[in-house]
Parts: sequence; C-alpha cells; structure tokens
Amino acid sequence: MNILLLGSGGREHALAWKMAQSKHCSNLFIAPGNAGTAQCGKNVSIGVNDFDAIKKFAVENNIEMIVVGPEDPLVNGVFDALKADTSTQHIIVIGPSAEGAQLEGSKAFSKKFMQRHNIPTAAYAEFTKDSFEEGKKYIRQHSLPVVLKADGLAAGKGVVIAQTTADALKAFEEMIINQQFGEASSKVVIEQFLDGIELSIFALTDGKDYKIIGHAKDYKRIGVGDTGLNTGGMGCVSPLPFLTDEFLQKIETKIIQPTIQGLQTENIIYNGFVFFGLIKVGDEPFVIEYNCRMGDPETEVVMPRLKNDLVELFLSVHNNTLKDTVIAYDDRACATVVAVSGGYPGDYEKGKQISLPDNVLESKSFIFHAGTKPDNKGEVVTNGGRVLAVTSFGKDIAEAVQLSKNVLGNIHFEGMYFRSDIGYEFNP
Ligand code: ATP
Repeated sequence: MNILLLGSGGREHALAWKMAQSKHCSNLFIAPGNAGTAQCGKNVSIGVNDFDAIKKFAVENNIEMIVVGPEDPLVNGVFDALKADTSTQHIIVIGPSAEGAQLEGSKAFSKKFMQRHNIPTAAYAEFTKDSFEEGKKYIRQHSLPVVLKADGLAAGKGVVIAQTTADALKAFEEMIINQQFGEASSKVVIEQFLDGIELSIFALTDGKDYKIIGHAKDYKRIGVGDTGLNTGGMGCVSPLPFLTDEFLQKIETKIIQPTIQGLQTENIIYNGFVFFGLIKVGDEPFVIEYNCRMGDPETEVVMPRLKNDLVELFLSVHNNTLKDTVIAYDDRACATVVAVSGGYPGDYEKGKQISLPDNVLESKSFIFHAGTKPDNKGEVVTNGGRVLAVTSFGKDIAEAVQLSKNVLGNIHFEGMYFRSDIGYEFNP
C-alpha cells in the first residue's frame, strides 16, 4: 500500500525505518521528513499542518494510510479534516480525532477525564483570569513544591515546579496575566508534586482494545546528572529493570484499561498511539500526562525493540483485530543517546555539515536523524536543536549506552554535544 507519514523528527525516522520493512508497504512518503527519512522513502515538501496540501497529495498519489507523527496536526484536527472530505475519508488514519487528541492538547481536559474514570493522578485545581485571586489563594495554601501547568500545548516548556510560594505566584502571574504561552496559558492547572521515578508506556488502540508496544525512561535535562534546562529529550533506555510484571499489571488495571474504557464510553474516536507518562510513587503508578502520539526519543528505542510488522499492527487497528495480535520484543537492552546543536535548548546555529560514519553495524546500532537536511550539494547538514539519535542494543543498558557513545565518537559537526550519562541509574 501507499503510505504517507507526517513529521520530520527522530521519531519519524524511526517510524519510517520500521514501516519501510513492512511487507504491506509498497511506497512510503514522508512530509516533510529529514535527511534520514529520505533513506526510507520519498520526502515531500508539505507542512504537517497544511491539511489542504496533505489531502491533495493523498488523492493524487493513491495514499491508503496516513500515519501522524507529531501532536500539533492531531490537536488541530487532521483526522477530522481527512474524514470530513469525501475524497480522503476512505484513508486509514493512524492518530486520534481532535477530541481524542485533547488528552494531550488540554491538561484541564485530561485531568477531568482522569477524574471521571478514577485514574490515579496528582490532586489539582484549574484557574483562569477570572479566578486569578482564587488561584493565588490556592497556591498560598498549597504544600511545596507545587506544580503549575499551562493548559495547552507549550512544546514541553509549560510546566513549572515551584519550590517556594513566591516563585509559584510569580509563575502563575506570568502564565495567566502576562500570557507567557499565549492562549495555551489562559487556563492553568495547579497540582500536587509527586515524588518518584518516571517512565513512559506506549500503547496502540482502536478505541476499544489496546496492545502495549513498548516502554522507556527518557532523560529530559540538558546536563549530566539531570541538571540544567529541559529539552525535548536527550536520550532514553528500555527495558526498565523496575518495571516488573506485577507493576505492569497494576498499570494496566489502574491506568491503561480505564483510559481505553473511558474513550469508549465517551464515544471518543481514537485510532492510534497513547503515550502514558507515568510516575512510580512507592509501589503505585500515577499519570503525569497523556500524549496522543509516540515520544521522541522513545520511539527510537521502542521501534527497534518491537518485532512485529508495524503496518500490520496499524491494519489490525483499522480492522479491529488488535486483541488477537501478539506483540513480540527483542529482549536485548536498548539505549538512545541524542546529539544536539551547541547552545540547545537555547539559541543555536543551523547548517553545520555533519560527517557520518558509513560502517555502522545495523544489527547493533542505528543512526536516526532528527534535525538534519540535505543541503544543495547533497551533504547532510544540521537543521534543528536535536540533530541525531543514536540507538544501540547491548547485553545490558550500560553496554547499549556505550555502543551508542562509540558511534557518536565517529560523528562530527561543529558544536555537537551529547549527554555522557544516559541510563546512569542502571549502570552497575
Ligand atoms: P512534555 O510534553 O515535554 O513531556 P509537558 O509540557 O506536556 O511535557 P508534563 O509532562 O505534564 O508537561 O510535565 C513535564 C515534566 O514535569 C514531567 O516529565 C515531570 O518530570 C514533571 N512533572 C509534571 N507534573 C508533575 C507532578 N505532578 N509531580 C512531579 N513532577 C511533575
């Protein structure tokens, strides 16, 4: 079949790499893609939010399946736009409806959803400009630290963990009154701080049944030892030694099953990935956030570990046969280390030439491109903050991380930086 994948990050390179291996994939197009996705299919120069251009391309190229990588087009309603048009409504879309994408697009929506379905999450309250004074009162009475979240999408920057009441009040005013994140912070969720270890679980659902397709722990901070500014993700590891069968069972019973049942009872159309951002407090799992798509860089460990044919899994979502599907994993440890542009997550320069090794052992290491593009001389140059994600398999996490670092030792671009301590808690 002809498949169109939307997106241009490391996640999309990993998805494209996996889909290109499918027996069901005859032609793969990626819009807009990067220099890595160009090795798996054909990049087309269409933006992920240009729904008219996406529909036109889909019709002209007999696209039968569209897989949506990032959250933006989902929250903006790409599923609904494709289904509302008679020329594209037959296309299988992997990604939820705009209503389903609200699980990620609005923190207030997701918190209310969790409350309605008794899904464990931090206690919270939500405030707008009209309830600003009440919000200040709520903060003054709240224990510390206290967590403030802009309601809408803020590219991972809309969360403040305030250690003092004064800092919390300042952040609250910035968001609500000074509209720090524009419309996204016109509503603010204030919630209890949960102290524990974070993990992410990925499921694929047709809105009725689901299958877990992987899990990972990511490293968000720029600096060694989880210090410095937040980033889109500096690396990740899988599987997690602390995710025992017993704990996973608890997550399924208390979180995943009620979430999927909640979607079904509320008639929310959802055919796609659910990303459960969890925290383990003692022996109990809590939801920190839902995302309506795969994670980046988590996809870069989840896809190599997943043994199933990915397009076949998408077809079972479409055909409602997920429940009969058996998911199989590569048992080896897997780690991704992300190389970023100098200065990231602050200002950085683009267009730096990248020298890449041509002898990576494909059975052990993979170089997934994120912010890269071919320049007009056909060389690969940097085109974003996160540039490359190097994934490796190893007998344990320490070995997998070391192999990725070895590969990175043979990659060069001006200003290149990566965290040397990904997976540090799991090193012997
Ligand atoms: P992203 O999309 O980048 O994951 P986001 O903006 O959607 O982030 P959250 O995932 O809700 O926001 O929060 C970002 C981070 O803040 C979490 O990964 C977690 O480390 C921390 N955090 C959020 N809520 C809490 C909480 N209640 N208790 C402790 N830490 C929290």
